[in-house]
Amino acid sequence: MLKNDPLKNVLYINLSRNSFHIEDRSDVFEERLGGVGAGIKLLLEECPKGCDPFSPENPIIFAVGPLNALFPVASKTTVLFKSPHTGNLGESHCGGRSAIAMRLAGYGAMVIKGKSDYPVYIAIHEDGVHFRDASSLWGMKSSFTVGRVIREREKGEGLRTIMRIGRAGEKLVTYAGVITESYRHFGRLGLGAVFGSKNLKAIIISGRRSLPVENARLYKEVYNHIFNEATRSEAMKKYHDLGTQSNINPLAKKGALPVRNLQQIGLDEMKKISGESFAEHFLGRRLACSHCPVGCIHLAALREPYEDEPYFYKTSMISYDYEPTYALGTMLGISDASVFLKLMDEVEILGIDAVSTGVVLAWATEAYQKKLIGKRETMGLEPKWGDGETYMKMVRKIVNQPNEFYRALAKGVDYASNIYGGREFALAFGGNEMPGYHTGHGCYLGFLIGARHGHLDNAGYSIDEKAYERKEEIEPEDMVDRLIKEEKWRQVLSSLVVCFFARRIYVPDVVISALRVAGFDLSQDELQNIGDRIYKDKFNFKIREGFSVDNLRLPERIFQTPSSLGALKRDYFSKALSYFKKILLELK
Ligand code: SF4
Repeated sequence: MLKNDPLKNVLYINLSRNSFHIEDRSDVFEERLGGVGAGIKLLLEECPKGCDPFSPENPIIFAVGPLNALFPVASKTTVLFKSPHTGNLGESHCGGRSAIAMRLAGYGAMVIKGKSDYPVYIAIHEDGVHFRDASSLWGMKSSFTVGRVIREREKGEGLRTIMRIGRAGEKLVTYAGVITESYRHFGRLGLGAVFGSKNLKAIIISGRRSLPVENARLYKEVYNHIFNEATRSEAMKKYHDLGTQSNINPLAKKGALPVRNLQQIGLDEMKKISGESFAEHFLGRRLACSHCPVGCIHLAALREPYEDEPYFYKTSMISYDYEPTYALGTMLGISDASVFLKLMDEVEILGIDAVSTGVVLAWATEAYQKKLIGKRETMGLEPKWGDGETYMKMVRKIVNQPNEFYRALAKGVDYASNIYGGREFALAFGGNEMPGYHTGHGCYLGFLIGARHGHLDNAGYSIDEKAYERKEEIEPEDMVDRLIKEEKWRQVLSSLVVCFFARRIYVPDVVISALRVAGFDLSQDELQNIGDRIYKDKFNFKIREGFSVDNLRLPERIFQTPSSLGALKRDYFSKALSYFKKILLELK
């Protein structure tokens, strides 16, 4: 690490006492780079074994890494905590201005513990840390308004991040997220509910420091290489042009796009909510995270007439991506783009994870059709595919939790199906609702054995897609090895912290050169060892908190609907999971 690099500074905040202090933790960053590497080490130190995710002892650990604010597309912040959704490891990544603001404010990590007696937001500026009364923001209908009020009250324009929760976080919906800069999220696994449990409404961070660089010539050379790759390569062009929404048509064509709670796959009508269709009819603006020349954030302009004023329109800017479109669109049988956008907007206003929400609503629709639940549970609502109005009402009820049924939905599909039945079509893996891929064994194994039980852990869908193109058959043990190899390398990328969209730019040689600029002299083997250690730490934490391969569940539905690689086989999963179990035993 370079001399005087503020990365080593860890800001410890105690909300119970409204106090803070800063420690030099060079030891953590020199050993683990930063990001998830630093985060998991601090989580193991700070999170008591078996702690209740909603207790004051559950730490929230934000961490950035040595490449943030130095290189293009190194624009992400990581956060680790104990998840109230799965009761185990919680991890989420977010862009916007979060990483740059935190690094330039002079911190490599922040550890937040305790619980405030009243709603607060934390303002972190160069003159210190302030605890502001947020009573007037608590209960506010829209997370957008919360952001606007804080924006007007606080200094640091342009170089600040505003992370906040909506009503879902306040009401402890276990899959509530944290929104930054209006269009980016710490979405999955319930960070928003952990904020809510601490009476923490928001965090604003501003900073204007500069970072030390000793070898300016090498810096320019490596920077230019990464910048050119980010702006000229075909792979990144796809993210800029259509965004991840461009996945809809190819996945539908391959028969891997889940539709109507995975009762079907890839319907023709879903073209209406594809990236191509959105670009033609709705695209209003593209945005980028700080220090990213790609600009993959797509905003749709939704124009709606006021009821009594036919020539007056309200225009809302609503962000769209592949995963929310799958969950709130195709999974719910919604192919009308305006209906999808309105539902998406409601989810953003309330601050709830779009993927989990969509999968929960899809399960509820099927449970209603199969008469496992009735109007008594839904409070008179009749969920049916494509009916966005009813889904919007249900989302509000999930947040407000007026009865037992909605209280169950607010804990996720695993929990609700345990009470009301329909386990066979409750699409959660490791307790986390499934992302939008029905590509083959690889994607589901990836969800099961990934540390966060999401598609970004190890990109199993990508292994399936390559196998589809090459007509390759992958043995179960080989699949597990490939997934783990990818996940270990991703620990390195998540410690730097770079956006996974740039993973083909940040190949080992480039990472080694970029790290040299940041004062880390590491070989490829040493980098790999860091990835191995972080992976091992994460699973040690998971096992300590009760994770067991024996408890992993495979919903029957994934075997009923053929994937793009054909029908899935139970035997394949049994072999793969028993092999994975042996690997875990050796990890200890
Ligand atoms: S590619 Fe997109 S998500 Fe990634 S850093 Fe750039 S703008 Fe943010």
